[in-house]
Amino acid sequence: MAIKTYQAYCLDLDGTIFRGSEAVEEAAGFVERLQEKGVEPFFVTNNASMTQQQLKDKMAGFGIRAKKEQIISSAIAAAKYIKRWYAGDTVYMIGSDGLDQALRQEGLTRVGDQAGIVLMGIDRNITYDKLATACLQIRNGAVFLSTNQDMAFPSEKGLLPGNGAFTTLVAASTGVDPVYIGKPEMHMLEAIQLEFGFDKQDMVMVGDNYDTDIQAGIRFGIDTVHVNTGVSRMEEVLRKEKPPNFAIENLGFWEI
Ligand SMILES: [Mg+2]
Repeated sequence: MAIKTYQAYCLDLDGTIFRGSEAVEEAAGFVERLQEKGVEPFFVTNNASMTQQQLKDKMAGFGIRAKKEQIISSAIAAAKYIKRWYAGDTVYMIGSDGLDQALRQEGLTRVGDQAGIVLMGIDRNITYDKLATACLQIRNGAVFLSTNQDMAFPSEKGLLPGNGAFTTLVAASTGVDPVYIGKPEMHMLEAIQLEFGFDKQDMVMVGDNYDTDIQAGIRFGIDTVHVNTGVSRMEEVLRKEKPPNFAIENLGFWEI
């Protein structure tokens, strides 16, 4: 299919590049075609638990060579957001490896109490104490940020509670709504634009989920491409009031 040529291809991961532990077959070839043209794609994921290196290794397992600095998770974007708007503030974090590493990379300081920022990401060892500490600091005036609002995420056992569910608990208890960093918000795309200096007309967001990927692109004001390999079905996406610019069965149909 003839789709416009862009400079920044922002590719969602789960449902677009892989599905859980399995590759989306056509994705590796698409990335390779871009790289043959000298274009390194960006990878944009709400997953805040894995580090850039872990995500890079996972993709390598599917035969995809990703550039580590071009893997933008909601954890990476959250750390960059704090660095940009709240440089010098300390951070109370609920989260795992990916978020901790992202904060370190931006040189931000984690504290156990009296933080300027409370930042929540998925934490499989979350406790009442951690939630209570977050609530107390938000009531004391800390800025409230959260990596993403995903209420549930898939596992072999079924859908498990996501970071959005725990964030909602803290928001309900404190009466304070957080700033969410991940899709459908546009902060990850903005991080790419600001750091690499693209014009919006040269950027495209590609993903399987209308409510997160395509919405993020629409809100940010860039072109969007829907792939029919994950959450949202193509028929329903094309009926939306604001459909994506292009919809394709899978990345194999995208001529570069
Ligand atoms: Mg997806």
